[in-house]
Amino acid sequence: MRRLTGRTAVVTGASRGIGRAIAERLAADGALVAVHYGSNQAAADETVATIQRAGGSAFAVGAELGDDQGVDALFAGLDEGLSGRPLDILVNNAAVPPAGPIDSSTPEEFDRIFAVNVKAPFFVIQRAIPRMSGRGRIITISSVATRMANPTQTSFAMAKGAVETMSFTLANELGARGITVNAVAPGATKTDVNAALFEQPPGFEAYLASMTALDRLGRADDIADAVAFLASDDGRWVTGHVLDVSGGIHLGPRVPSRT
Ligand code: NAP
Repeated sequence: MRRLTGRTAVVTGASRGIGRAIAERLAADGALVAVHYGSNQAAADETVATIQRAGGSAFAVGAELGDDQGVDALFAGLDEGLSGRPLDILVNNAAVPPAGPIDSSTPEEFDRIFAVNVKAPFFVIQRAIPRMSGRGRIITISSVATRMANPTQTSFAMAKGAVETMSFTLANELGARGITVNAVAPGATKTDVNAALFEQPPGFEAYLASMTALDRLGRADDIADAVAFLASDDGRWVTGHVLDVSGGIHLGPRVPSRT
């Protein structure tokens, strides 16, 4: 028996990138996975098809997050797909990217980041709680932007800081119901979608790798494997934690090797 056999999961933003890898990994571990997407249904259907070809179970749920209707749409699709089964695992992964430096940030961009990256996960959790089993897992994807001062990511980092605080606080609030609440903080993670971002300017990827203790960029499956640990019974005693899954980015100066 696989370690998540009989469990159910929803992964927001699972049509592509890190969310897709998480959905595939949880399904490979035996969970029935709701593959949420915002607008790219074709990509979500492809994720579902990949899971099913590998022998797993999944269904797609579309909902544009960022307003109250989005959360309603997500749970309408989730309830239909779960057909009365409880929810075991919620992964809040969907997020909009950094909006750029403060000089050019607009109030609209700021509100959008907080609507999708903070308000949506909070109210998705609120709606998920009554559906959760007594072995519930809530995992929200943060970022190392909360501990690394990146000059173009202030509003994004502020939002990720908010979900880390949310996870810490909710862990204490929800523990009595048997629910663990954690955050996972990736560093620079190269996916099928964003690979080009790391390839310009020339040398950028090598520069980022050189800031990382393990000397490479992350891959989506590096993040998915850490999420799978927290989602499993092996992660039962970990709650209120932010798990840095960055290969050790920006830990300190790298000592040149002495050969
Ligand atoms: P991505 O490739 O941009 O994928 C984002 C996913 O979220 C997509 O499935 C997208 O759906 C969905 N989404 C975005 N906005 C949405 C909205 N308003 N409503 C509903 N769905 C929405 O992202 P990623 O690079 O894999 O990142 C995944 C998570 O890791 C995010 O929380 C991100 O902040 C975090 N992270 C990533 C990195 C990195 O280097 N990649 C580093 C640190 C943290 P559609 O496909 O339908 O648009």
